[in-house]
Amino acid sequence: MQIYPACPKLNCLRYFVFLQANSLAVKTKGSKKTKVNIVTLGCSKNLVDSEVLLTQLRGNGIETAHESKKDDANIVVINTCGFIDNAKQESIDTILRYVDAKEEGIVEKVYVTGCLSERYKDDLQKEIPDVDAWFGTRDLSRLLKQLNANYKHELVGERILTNPSHFAYLKISEGCDRPCSFCAIPLMRGKHISKPIEELVLEAKNLAKKGTKELLLIAQDSTYYGLDLYKKRNLAELLNHLADVEGIDWIRLHYAFPTGFPLDVLDVMASRPNICKYLDIPLQHGSTRMLQLMRRGTTREKTEALLNTIREKVSGIAIRTTLIAGHPGETEAEFEEMMNFVETSRFDRLGVFPYSHEDNTHSYSMADDVPDDVKQARVDQLMDLQQGISLELNQQKIGKTMRVLIDRKEGGSFLWAHRV
Ligand code: SF4
Repeated sequence: MQIYPACPKLNCLRYFVFLQANSLAVKTKGSKKTKVNIVTLGCSKNLVDSEVLLTQLRGNGIETAHESKKDDANIVVINTCGFIDNAKQESIDTILRYVDAKEEGIVEKVYVTGCLSERYKDDLQKEIPDVDAWFGTRDLSRLLKQLNANYKHELVGERILTNPSHFAYLKISEGCDRPCSFCAIPLMRGKHISKPIEELVLEAKNLAKKGTKELLLIAQDSTYYGLDLYKKRNLAELLNHLADVEGIDWIRLHYAFPTGFPLDVLDVMASRPNICKYLDIPLQHGSTRMLQLMRRGTTREKTEALLNTIREKVSGIAIRTTLIAGHPGETEAEFEEMMNFVETSRFDRLGVFPYSHEDNTHSYSMADDVPDDVKQARVDQLMDLQQGISLELNQQKIGKTMRVLIDRKEGGSFLWAHRV
């Protein structure tokens, strides 16, 4: 593997490159019939993008697979994630694995798209010249052209699913207009663009025809829906239209944002039986000073008031949130405030991330002053606290009868998602 000249700005990327050289043992060589293998990294929004690409390529009569383990594709498209360090590492590992496969003659072309490519394309081109072409997050037409395909408008609303068809992600918008200090997503996904209600209803109808029962609504910020297109927050209206789609039993709302939360959504949630009494709403911290430093546009008091309103308006609702530990400036006292916030808010589900110092974000201009081991210790403390809370909440469900959606059978047991 070629060792690239030192590049201070790309130290982290160069380090990832060096680590992985020559790691893949391979079997066969020689040219093949055109077949594209799409590899997806990162979040559910990336997965939807890969499914749209898959649908368009098959619509052009091009044989296409998703995450094929067989060595029968001569072209690989890697849809990368560039969110935080671990995700970047995984994306670079995957790119290098396929660059090695190309060197070994297993694949002929390696194309890279998605967030990491959008964010670091210029540098990556220099660092990994063996990749045939790089594409951004809004480059579908150009990527299709590169694959000798044309964008087919008649396929809008159609999507081939890569997961079991009883559930599907429905991406209601792209990009984000929020200024959160720690977040690089707007750098990779651009400004917020809502998808028209008609297009989303068509997509939901087509999915229902294929047996989809559960729709998981996703976006960078789902509660911002409509502000660009309809000049008002229009998530409630969208939910009502989707709830009218025959065959869709469950609609689950993810990635809500607390500031400016459209309360009419709660009325729709409470009144429509096929909208899950479930809300995923990342809150990020429990201290007012930290929320302001993170540019979340809210306070602890306003957050707690919102949580109370949500629970009052939608009886029995399950709330999931995510928090960040170790953001620049976070003191021990503010961490204790967050512990107290988790203790008193009693979330049904909680995810906690250690702060990641991301270049070109607002926080990058601050000193990353919380040591990594302290960040991780704070994450662990919060998750330990949550484990006790989740256990108590789950124990309260013992003896209750619930409607569940079976995800899969493993040995003698069924794995399911239950509806609340
Ligand atoms: S709302 Fe989410 S995606 Fe948008 S900037 Fe904030 S954290 Fe990032």
